[in-house]
Amino acid sequence: MKNEGNQLLVLFKLYQSICAAVLDNILKSVGFDDVVYIDLFKGLQNHYLPRKCGLCGLYYLLEATAYSPFCTRPVKGRRGKTCRDLGHRKTYTDKVNSDPILLTYTKAYKQHYARYLKKKMTQAEFREWADLALELRQRAYDKELSFEEYEAEIRK
Ligand SMILES: [Zn+2]
Repeated sequence: MKNEGNQLLVLFKLYQSICAAVLDNILKSVGFDDVVYIDLFKGLQNHYLPRKCGLCGLYYLLEATAYSPFCTRPVKGRRGKTCRDLGHRKTYTDKVNSDPILLTYTKAYKQHYARYLKKKMTQAEFREWADLALELRQRAYDKELSFEEYEAEIRK
């Protein structure tokens, strides 16, 4: 992956020039001070980390205070949406699809919510069902219920 190496190199140069520019500005305003210089440099090193985006695969600088495995570049064809917007949704969808217990729960939840919207269930009934569904899901994870028993119960 020659391209990734180049991206990283470009990024590192950019990173260095940003640091240098910020340092220059601050040092000009406060006057030269070794302590300020060292603390600031350490802070920049710790707070901006190059990371590879989990969706588009490009590198980006991540602020440690805003942890995310995705960059904030706009996604082509998805007006106004960034990798970060879409990536988190994709991660959740992948998780649901790889977990049959969670997938069954999600389907049952949607079905029951639709019943509530069509007024075939009252809000109280829906809440009661939602509590039960969470309990059933936990019992399925704990293997107190077989998958078949869980599936049959949660669909009721
Ligand atoms: Zn991205």
